[in-house]
Amino acid sequence: MRLGSLFAIIVPFLGFAAAIVFLWGRGMGWVELGLLLGMYVLTVLGITVGYHRLFTHRSFETNRIVQCILAGLGSMALQGSLLNWVAWHRRHHQHSDTPDDPHSPHHQGKGLLGLLRGMWHAHVGWFFKADPPDMGRYIKDLRECRLLRWVSALFPMWVAIGLLIPAAIGGLVTGTWMGALLGLIWGGLARIFLVHHVTWSVNSICHLWGGRPFQSDDHSRNNFLFGVLALGEGWHNNHHAFPTSARHGLRWWQVDISYWVIRALALCGLAWKVRVPAKLALSTGQSAAQT
Ligand SMILES: [Zn+2]
Ligand SMILES: [Zn+2]
Repeated sequence: MRLGSLFAIIVPFLGFAAAIVFLWGRGMGWVELGLLLGMYVLTVLGITVGYHRLFTHRSFETNRIVQCILAGLGSMALQGSLLNWVAWHRRHHQHSDTPDDPHSPHHQGKGLLGLLRGMWHAHVGWFFKADPPDMGRYIKDLRECRLLRWVSALFPMWVAIGLLIPAAIGGLVTGTWMGALLGLIWGGLARIFLVHHVTWSVNSICHLWGGRPFQSDDHSRNNFLFGVLALGEGWHNNHHAFPTSARHGLRWWQVDISYWVIRALALCGLAWKVRVPAKLALSTGQSAAQT
């Protein structure tokens, strides 16, 4: 498990380094840029709309096909299987910024050294700590669903598909093996590296720097940069204040692309019971299942 985490962190980093070498040597074509951006957006949405807002917090409902697609895309981000990810994140909300929080940056000592140690721990260090006992109690609801148990167990297959798709498209569009290799590197490995560090920054940066419009019992922050890069997840103080809200960017200027996607799904009849904070529900006419 710990070796697996190390592998999952280091291999995408090596892929990113290879991408930079190629960038230096031959620049970046439109196919590679398209594969990087396309795979980035799809797999971040798998984490934000799927793993996080749908499966962890049940902030909306959808059909089984959309559930499967979102869980598959989230798995392609190489951040652990669906059930594993949800268990850790629910524990984070239960114990936010207490010593039992799996990835709080606030318990690694004082001063600059404590801050740096805290950042490291919240970002990647926590992957190498021992699991607390009985993590299964956080995911009893998901385990009752056979489809989700299967989708979660097929995690390695989803990761492989997430690497093969950009390689295949790169190869087919350019008609060369080099195109396939560049597709694998840009749309696969370098993309995973960027997705990793942007989404992990929600755990590290967004519990350290940014605004706190809501005085929640934790150190969560709203951070504009990660609001944009993490497709809405950087409005993290809003999220801790209203954890079951499908909408994290609560003001018009708080860009929340993941919520726009949920709204688009709802408009197509593919999402329903979309939960938002009660005051917003009054102004938008949505179901107010949220306090
Ligand atoms: Zn948090
Ligand atoms: Zn959450």
